[in-house]
Amino acid sequence: MTNPLHVIIVGAGLGGLAAAIGITKAGHQVTILEQAAQLGEVGAGIQIPPSSSRVLDQWGLLNKIRTIATLPLDFHLRSKNGEILSTQNIQPFIEEKYGYPYFQVHRAGYHRILTEEAIRLGVTIRLKCVVQDINFTKPSVRVKGDPDYELTSDLIIGADGLRSLCREKFLARPDPPRITRDLAYRSLVKVSDMMSPVLRDLMVKPCTNYWMGANMHAMCYFIERDQICNIVLIIPDDLPPGVNVESASVEEMQAKFDSWDPQLVELLRCVGSTTKWRLQDSVKMERWVHEANKFVLLGDACHATLPYLAQGAAQAVEDGAVLGALFSKVAPSDGRLYMADILRTYEQLRRDRTAKVVQKSADFRVIFHMEDGPLQQERDRALLNDIPSEGFPFLFADPSLQEFLFGYDFAKEVDIAWGSYQRSPVSCSL
Ligand SMILES: Cc1cc2nc3c(=O)[nH]c(=O)nc-3n(C[C@H](O)[C@H](O)[C@H](O)COP(=O)(O)OP(=O)(O)OC[C@H]3O[C@@H](n4cnc5c(N)ncnc54)[C@H](O)[C@@H]3O)c2cc1C
Repeated sequence: MTNPLHVIIVGAGLGGLAAAIGITKAGHQVTILEQAAQLGEVGAGIQIPPSSSRVLDQWGLLNKIRTIATLPLDFHLRSKNGEILSTQNIQPFIEEKYGYPYFQVHRAGYHRILTEEAIRLGVTIRLKCVVQDINFTKPSVRVKGDPDYELTSDLIIGADGLRSLCREKFLARPDPPRITRDLAYRSLVKVSDMMSPVLRDLMVKPCTNYWMGANMHAMCYFIERDQICNIVLIIPDDLPPGVNVESASVEEMQAKFDSWDPQLVELLRCVGSTTKWRLQDSVKMERWVHEANKFVLLGDACHATLPYLAQGAAQAVEDGAVLGALFSKVAPSDGRLYMADILRTYEQLRRDRTAKVVQKSADFRVIFHMEDGPLQQERDRALLNDIPSEGFPFLFADPSLQEFLFGYDFAKEVDIAWGSYQRSPVSCSL
């Protein structure tokens, strides 16, 4: 009889926390090493699709999320002058169809709920731990200190985000994220500051609005039970080399959209401060699991995703839930025995799905940012006239993509994959 596993997770983002919760629930001991001095999420709003709500429900966290969330009614896709070209009902349609709600929340609240749950389950979170190197066969991590020190475990999970040291050590070469030539202005406005009559239409219901123009688009949605409006504006990247986040001039931001829909112009007049974020994604990796089968990647570290489908964190949370569900298929004392097969099944289950999400998110950029001309006219004609079917340009309304994104049932996927592994274990030895 052997003990449960000790798992080190590098990074306490939403993905690392989700993996910690899932793996602890499967009976193992988890330590998260986080470089920051304080826990929390920077940024603003985040959307939680039904596939993530399903995970949160299974973990008993759905009602906690509800207390901080807005339930959007409709998603409207508009031209830059404000004309609504297509609408997808979210509440009640999406919840009725996929069984779980679509939420919009402040990142800090979402992160706090996952952190509290991880700690309640017994996860150790060590702050100010900058991981500098990894020994993949022991396995162990070297943490920056005075002097540096080493921590060993049975399994190491690299959940250290977009600029992942774990990924670069695993590949044994520099592998910076891919430049996409876009940046996002992110801003929050109190709804109590949005009383102008021009905004009445935007305020009637808590809807998500998208506006599309050449090489740029804008979006806004409500969070914190409709008390805060989250605004994201995408424009061509003009940040200096090496700068990925920077506080920015509100006037400069407003000027870029001053010929757009008067509602958007008025909304941007309410913004008091804003930040620019360089947007980057990643290319599909061949492998996520090290050949010694004691190290695996998760979240943005292996599939950084553009935000246009609001799926990056959702995929990271699904990764964590799948890993946890796979470990729960075997007794904690058998964790070492089955670890290689569990990690390879995880990679098989997650790699193609996340690569498709990365690609579809990039495709949505092309649709959003079309220059005025025949392609844009055909896009708008389809949006206005066609009944959504596969390939419909409003990707949230494309029934096949919607099913793929929102209908994902992590526990069912794990049941099927583990069943097939048990019938023929060699199939997992890739
Ligand atoms: C503008 C914008 C809007 C977005 N909107 C959405 C949305 O609506 N819905 C959605 O699902 N996704 C959205 N995303 C994507 C989402 O933010 C990311 O995909 C998600 O946060 C990734 O989570 P993660 O845990 O993998 O990585 P991260 O959140 O980046 O966490 C990584 C953690 O690792 C730590 N770390 C890094 N290096 C080390 C080290 N060497 N040692 C120790 N710790 C380390 C970091 O401090 C950090 O805490 C958006 C992204 C952007 C830019």
